[in-house]
Amino acid sequence: MSGPFERTSAGGVVVRTDGGLEVCLIRPTGRSVWGLPKGGIEEGETLEQTALREVSEETGLVGVVEQELGSIDYSFYSREQGGRIHKTVHYFLVRATGGDTAQHDHEVSDARWVRLRQALRLMTYPNEREMVRRAAEALGRPVAD
Ligand code: ATP
Repeated sequence: MSGPFERTSAGGVVVRTDGGLEVCLIRPTGRSVWGLPKGGIEEGETLEQTALREVSEETGLVGVVEQELGSIDYSFYSREQGGRIHKTVHYFLVRATGGDTAQHDHEVSDARWVRLRQALRLMTYPNEREMVRRAAEALGRPVAD
């Protein structure tokens, strides 16, 4: 036995503000989870590049990074990866500039725009919810507790 193995991922809180603040949430295929798009870093990528690539793959949306939001971390056991994994995920506030949520890849069963309050209700992980709260605050629309 060895580990925990350290893994780093990056992802986005993808927003649009044309009418109220909306966030793009995904459901990873085969899991009853609503969450944020994210994934592992590929060779030569910066964290921002990873975040934008994962956003594009998992939501079908194209965007630009507006700012860094911070990171979350969690641990889990993975039989395929041979032990305990400690993962850190860096999140960025991403403004959607184009694309279409119908164009998500097969790792996602659904990608959709959800209004801020509904997003906070739907989301599975409290640590990801905190990233959405930070995004709302950065956009001047803080969520009341
Ligand atoms: P990636 O999207 O980075 O390729 P993955 O789909 O292989 O990752 P994760 O989404 O990190 O893997 O999920 C691995 C395990 O961690 C699952 O059991 C999942 O339920 C749990 N998990 C995922 N996100 C969180 C989180 N934000 N907080 C706590 N646990 C999480």
